[in-house]
Formats: sequence, C-alpha cells, structure tokens
Amino acid sequence: MKILVTGGAGFIGSALVRYLVDIEHIQVINVDCLTYAGNLDNLSKIRNAELHSFEKVDICDLAALETIYNKYKPDKVIHLAAESHVDRSIYDPYSFINTNIIGTFNLLKCSQNYYDQLRGTSAEDFKFLHVSTDEVFGDLKQDAPAFTEENRYKPNSPYSASKASSDHFVRAWNNTYGLPTLITNCSNNYGPYHYPEKLIPLMITNALRGQELPIYGDGKQIRDWLYVEDHAEALFKVITEGEPSSTFNIGGFNEKTNIEVVHQICDYLDSKKLYKNLGIGSFRDQIKNIKDRPGHDVRYAIDSSKIKNELGWVPKQIFEVGLIKTIEWYLDNKWWWEKLIK
Ligand code: NAD
Repeated sequence: MKILVTGGAGFIGSALVRYLVDIEHIQVINVDCLTYAGNLDNLSKIRNAELHSFEKVDICDLAALETIYNKYKPDKVIHLAAESHVDRSIYDPYSFINTNIIGTFNLLKCSQNYYDQLRGTSAEDFKFLHVSTDEVFGDLKQDAPAFTEENRYKPNSPYSASKASSDHFVRAWNNTYGLPTLITNCSNNYGPYHYPEKLIPLMITNALRGQELPIYGDGKQIRDWLYVEDHAEALFKVITEGEPSSTFNIGGFNEKTNIEVVHQICDYLDSKKLYKNLGIGSFRDQIKNIKDRPGHDVRYAIDSSKIKNELGWVPKQIFEVGLIKTIEWYLDNKWWWEKLIK
C-alpha cells in the first residue's frame, strides 16, 4: 500500500508518518512545503527509510501536485497540511484561507482526476481522508453533551472557519463527483515534536527557560486532550476500515481546563526540583494571566462513540502518563526546540 500524506513534517503528520513507516511498514509519500511549522528533524528516525519519500511541495501549487500523483500513483491520501495556529489566524487570516481552503481544493481536484482514471481494485480501494478539527463545531456550554458527528458547524475563529470550509468542499466532492472521501474531526493533540507556540509545549519550554507562563484570561477554557500517537493509530484505522462518505470524531476522553494542565506541568517540574537553577520557589509562581484571545471558545469536548463502536478504536494513553512522557521528551530533546525559539 502507498499512502500520500500531506503535512507530514508537522506535529501530527510526522507522528502519522513515523507510525505508518515504522509500525505498519507502509510506503509513504510525504508532501510538505516546510512552513515555520514543518520540520525535517521530526522525521529524523525514518527520514532515510526506503519506505519514506519526501517531496517539498506546496499544496497550493496544482501542477506540482499533479506531478506527484503521476509519479507515485498513491493508493490512498491522508491530508493534514494546514495552517493550524488560532492566534496566527487572527493576525494573518489570508494564509489560512490559501492553504486550508485553496490547498484542499487543489488536492480534491487532483485526487478526482487521478481517481477517475483508476480501474478495478485500485478504484475500489482508493480513499481520501481529510483531517479536521473539533473547533468547527464552535463553543460548547459547560453542561452540554460532547460534540457528535451530527453537531452543526459553528466555527468562531478564522482558523476554524477555514477548516469548516475545507470540510464542506470535501463533502461536496464526495456527493457531487463521487470521490471516496472521509473526514475526521479531532480534539487537541499533545506529545513530542509539538511546535512550542501551542499551550503544552509553550508552557514546558517557557518554564525550562525561567520565563513567564502566559495564560489567556482565567485559564478556565476546557479542551479534550488526545495523545498524538493515539491519533495516528485512529487515522490509520479510518483510512483502512472506514466507509467512504463517513465522518468520525476522534477525542481523548480527557476534558481539562487549561489552568489544570499548566498546574500539572508546573508540579511535575517542581517534583524534579528544576526551579532551583532558576532562583524561584515553584514554577506556579511564573504563571501570568494575560488578556484573553478575541472570540476564545470556552469549551470543546468530543464524543468518540462512533469510531469506538464502528472501528473498535479507543485512545490508549492516560493523560497524566502521556503528559509526563511529553515533559520528559522536552527535557531530553532541548536540541530540537531550542533552535525554534528566537
Ligand atoms: P502543524 O502546524 O504542526 O503542521 C502543519 C504541516 O503542514 C507543517 O509541516 C507545514 O509545513 C505543512 N504545510 C502548511 N502549509 C502547507 C502548504 N501550503 N503546502 C504543503 N504543506 C504545508 O499542524 P498539526 O498540529 O500537525 O495539524 C495537522 C492537521 O491536523 C491540521 O489539518 C489541523 O487542522 C488538524 N488538527 C490539529 C489538531 C491539534 O491539536 N494540533 C487537532 C485537530 C485537528
């Protein structure tokens, strides 16, 4: 099986590529244009593996994508390339519209042209999986049930609006042109190789450098956390076993407030007495509440019953253990993150 993965040098994409090559022994064509978030260091373990081919291509370049499809003739496509940071989408929405919407449109167009030429089992087996987010469902009240696949789309940020738009295009390509597509909507991921602008890696790397730990507003925003390697396994299940035209929610059954997560990080680092080198009493002293992000959603929660019941997938990682593994990874891999921080 040959799988074309877009965004395979990013946080989740690289976890997926490592999983496909290392664990499933599948041939991967990794298409990524290496924005600030793409990093070949994320792939160092499998970079030169025979099963891995890296192509530095922008998904907004239709002609370059067509060349890749003709060269490799993939059996399946998993599309993760995106601009992914909500804060950046507020200050620079254009790049989100370009990559997340136009880039997805290019991939659909390319996949459709390619799919129309396939015959027999190649046509029967072809699938296009679009990786999306729970943020398309918008804000959830404290006591409301978790999002199911049936929830209405109510995106609130330029990021989630661009992802919602791309989801609609994927659905339309399935419905109008018969492209065998799947969509997954996933909750917040955490784990190794996470760019240090997102909450968990930002807190760990700031703490280790003796810097303030900035928390938006009161830090009571609730997110459902999923270990990135669990997500990679779920994506493989969906692309191999999911029925085309389906959507699946993927979550970690781990609802936490941001401040709870930050306290857990501080307490673990305190338990290692790392504050002593920094001349502070506890990492909690470094927490600083800052002005909230405009339009900040208070709660997301994902109901993953459908993927559990239909495909037998459940997350394996317990949050407390996964968080410690993640902190330990950042402690052991300063070479990876120090050069990303200006
Ligand atoms: P990321 O920002 O870490 O990585 C994105 C990757 O896409 C990078 O390697 C980047 O170089 C590449 N890329 C960006 N624009 C490109 C373009 N025009 N052409 C080719 N490559 C391009 O993102 P991530 O956190 O790994 O997220 C991957 C996907 O999962 C995204 O689609 C995101 O919306 C979705 N998602 C993320 C989360 C999360 O918690 N991180 C949760 C749910 C869904």
